[in-house]
Amino acid sequence: MPLVPTAQIVTAAAAAGSGAAAFNVVTLETAEALVGAAERAARPLILQISQNCAAFHGSLTPLAAATRAVAEASDAVLALHLDHAEDADLARRAVDLGFGSVMFDGAALPYDENVRVTAAVAAYAHERGAWIEAELGEIGGKDGAHAAGVRTDPDEAAAFVAATGVDLLAVAVGSTHARTDRTTRLDLDLIARLRDAVPVPLVLHGSSGVADDHLREAVAAGIVKVNVSTHLNGHFTRAVRSVLDADERIVDLRRYLGPGRDAMADEAARLLALIAG
Ligand SMILES: [Zn+2]
Repeated sequence: MPLVPTAQIVTAAAAAGSGAAAFNVVTLETAEALVGAAERAARPLILQISQNCAAFHGSLTPLAAATRAVAEASDAVLALHLDHAEDADLARRAVDLGFGSVMFDGAALPYDENVRVTAAVAAYAHERGAWIEAELGEIGGKDGAHAAGVRTDPDEAAAFVAATGVDLLAVAVGSTHARTDRTTRLDLDLIARLRDAVPVPLVLHGSSGVADDHLREAVAAGIVKVNVSTHLNGHFTRAVRSVLDADERIVDLRRYLGPGRDAMADEAARLLALIAG
């Protein structure tokens, strides 16, 4: 079926008090794994492609087209989102490509500049029926330069949403990106205060570092969109490694990409059922 707007998935999840899962597509095989997981779990899923991933492929267009093709061949309810774009032009291009939402990440910009550029991207997206996600209170871990101690202030967050018109807000509540263990402790109290202060759904980045039960607690406290990338990549990569370690004569890519895809699909289906209730 055709892609649905991200708004549809997030609004339904928020109304139901459940989470909206957003998992990262990195290659064609990961798109296949995640779409297969959504079918198996019978839950809606937001497929997201990051600016870093677009850069890896040299362009956003081919992987976006492939992801859309895989999604449209499925009966699952799926949306397409641009993750972590620091390039406002790339965010606009994703809207032009029919993405249901884009994240403009101006967290590293001075506040006034972040507001100005975010509001401009928001206006562009809204004119074309797309949603925009922004981030306030930089979530650490991407380059190791940011401590896990950063927190988003509820009053600042409410003012930022009012000034920019964003539809989703990524908040710093104790998580860090790219964690390969699941021992992060989130500030659940702050999540609840942000939910009460901020009029748009909250997004948790760095969810790979959060254990199952704690993820459910975060959703109960007020998180709606839950981004997971590293954790699922780990399942893919460990399966590939075990196949290659077992037989050094393998040269056919499908012999190890297949098991990697299967492993990612299994864990994505499990996690999707957990997040999306
Ligand atoms: Zn993130």
